[in-house]
Amino acid sequence: MYSDRPEPVHISAAEHGITPERISHHALTVLQRLHEQGYGAYLVGGAVRDALVGQVPKDFDVVTDARPEQVRALFRHARIIGRRFRIVHVIFGHEVIEVTTFRGGDDEAVRRSDQGRILRDNVFGTLEEDVWRRDFACNALYYDFATEEIIDFVQGWQDVAAGRLRLIGNPQTRYQEDPVRMLRAARFAAKLKFSLTEETAAAIYPARHLLKDIAPARLFDESIKLFQGGYGWAAFEQLRAMDLFGFLFGGLDELLNRDYDRIAALIEQVLRGTDERVAAQLPVNPAFLFAGLLWADLSRRREFWLHQRVDSETALAVAADEVISAAVRQVAIPRRLTDLMRVLWSLQPSLEKLGQGMAQGVPLAQLSSDHKHLLAHAWFRAGLDFLCLRSAVGEVAEATCAFWRQYAPARDAQGGEAIPTHLPEDFAPHGGLPDRPRRARQRRPRRG
Ligand code: ATP
Ligand code: MG
Repeated sequence: MYSDRPEPVHISAAEHGITPERISHHALTVLQRLHEQGYGAYLVGGAVRDALVGQVPKDFDVVTDARPEQVRALFRHARIIGRRFRIVHVIFGHEVIEVTTFRGGDDEAVRRSDQGRILRDNVFGTLEEDVWRRDFACNALYYDFATEEIIDFVQGWQDVAAGRLRLIGNPQTRYQEDPVRMLRAARFAAKLKFSLTEETAAAIYPARHLLKDIAPARLFDESIKLFQGGYGWAAFEQLRAMDLFGFLFGGLDELLNRDYDRIAALIEQVLRGTDERVAAQLPVNPAFLFAGLLWADLSRRREFWLHQRVDSETALAVAADEVISAAVRQVAIPRRLTDLMRVLWSLQPSLEKLGQGMAQGVPLAQLSSDHKHLLAHAWFRAGLDFLCLRSAVGEVAEATCAFWRQYAPARDAQGGEAIPTHLPEDFAPHGGLPDRPRRARQRRPRRG
């Protein structure tokens, strides 16, 4: 398949400028240990690419000729994981270093579906073989711990310099092997501001439909990387431009096609807000993000049920069931998140109704018990943050957001929980977003 394999280019440390100080010391520990034991030890992928473009790598991927069992034996806290590929996670407190064994073998050894999708690929190989299994040339640069050189078989070095995203090999085949590479193309274009080469871009449209066969759990993982990586708004725009967004959120994509400006306004608020929080290293909760993305779909369905003369609480609950069950069929948003999405949504009508026309400066003690009840809700602050995003796009009066805000100031830039100074001591503090809603829900959703 790849007959005329070129000789690799070696780029010296002086030329590439990546010094060991720029590498996570846990990754260095792993590289060093492998090297001492006589194994090859390389950094590959995002770690090398991001360092070259001056971004801080999100994680450090190590690749070696040691087998998974051999890698695991070298570290106290290491475990073998993986469905399609077996890899080793070496765990250092919060940091996990992913160690992969070179992949190789001829095409015979790889199990494929009828569409050419790779199902299992656990044949080990050499660096020279591994490189052709990587997706983009800019992701296939190997930093050799032993020599501190970068080894480049595929002119990835030139691509990084030119800001180019180019699939290795025949793009059509590579998308068929793994359709998620199309989403990765959108993600790297957004993250790195790289441009797809003509061939890499052109092969996407005809292969898009293959994304329908990807497991919803994997699409959930990809969605998190796309929207919570700190460049979520750019990723959204890329996905729309490449006509891929519908393979994640079909219903929403159709709404966007009909009424882009109105619907995208809130999505832009949510995603840019998330990007800012990531940049400031504040925690982000995916439930908030998905609640924001799907709000337009929810509102539309809720309207429908209201027109059927269903009471407003039921209309919202039924609409939420519909939106969530449709969404999780494509993107497997876990239950703990969909539970919280329902709470965020269901708080909106009360916040609007009770906040409407209220004057500023009313002392807390003089508020009605309904107001106090809402203020004491475990998710009040998250619900309010959501309300204020809606007010920023003109869906809710600014005064309504401002009214509630006086009892729960926005969190400060340091990420500390702003203590709600106006609340009496017997009120539960409204923190950020813990993992699970603390209150029991009233009704059980069907699924999701
Ligand atoms: P980031 O960590 O910033 O998301 P990355 O390029 O490191 O970007 P990872 O998902 O961490 O992406 O994967 C590490 C490397 O593994 C990639 O750079 C690429 O070489 C290879 N890789 C990952 N996913 C695929 C895939 N679906 N097909 C081919 N190669 C892949
Ligand atoms: Mg990575």
